[in-house]
Amino acid sequence: MKLLAVEDEIKTGDYLKQGLEEAGFNVDLVRTGLDGQHLASTGDYDLIVLDVMLPDIDGWRILQSLREANTNTPVIFLTARDSVDDRVKGLELGADDYLVKPFAFSELLARVRTLLRRGVPLPIIDKLQAADLILDLLSRRATRAGNRINLTNKEFSLLELLLRRQGEVLPRSLIASQIWDMNFDSDTNVIDVAIRRLRAKIDDPYEPKLIHTVRGMGYKLEIPDATSAN
Ligand code: CA
Repeated sequence: MKLLAVEDEIKTGDYLKQGLEEAGFNVDLVRTGLDGQHLASTGDYDLIVLDVMLPDIDGWRILQSLREANTNTPVIFLTARDSVDDRVKGLELGADDYLVKPFAFSELLARVRTLLRRGVPLPIIDKLQAADLILDLLSRRATRAGNRINLTNKEFSLLELLLRRQGEVLPRSLIASQIWDMNFDSDTNVIDVAIRRLRAKIDDPYEPKLIHTVRGMGYKLEIPDATSAN
């Protein structure tokens, strides 16, 4: 079982990681919201322990973007105050449980185990597909028309994001934050270059073209409607 802990307080973070590892879990600990959001969005975890108060982007935003991306990973959030508002907000945003700091480790462990045992039959997605483009998430391989395509890690993540949100226009700012941990203010030329490289690999030699530029907005991946006059 692989857990993600997002906690900026050094002591609490170390305590979480050590305790959960001693309980037999594999734990990735990150100390910033951006790192948390990036790792959480990979969907690679069985459960996330998420601190709400983080120095850059807060736990609410991470939770919200996870649920908006239809990632169902169970989330336990950690709140500093026993505030009813915080509890309601967290649960409304799609958290599964919460703990008020300071908490007893045994309490956290009990809740983690309960959530993991709940055994909701979540859909396990191991392949993403559009037309004859297939991204195998387990083996991390891409093929188009049966041809193996070599992608860098960033290209793979970018293509995965586009495929997961097929048909949606993804603003450069969203791509920047999800794939590069950058703010929109940064040089978004990086994204255009990456898209160009990705197109050269997965679109240029093939039909139909799947990655589309939406002028002034961003990019989307979509199978063109063959019956459309355009
Ligand atoms: Ca904190």
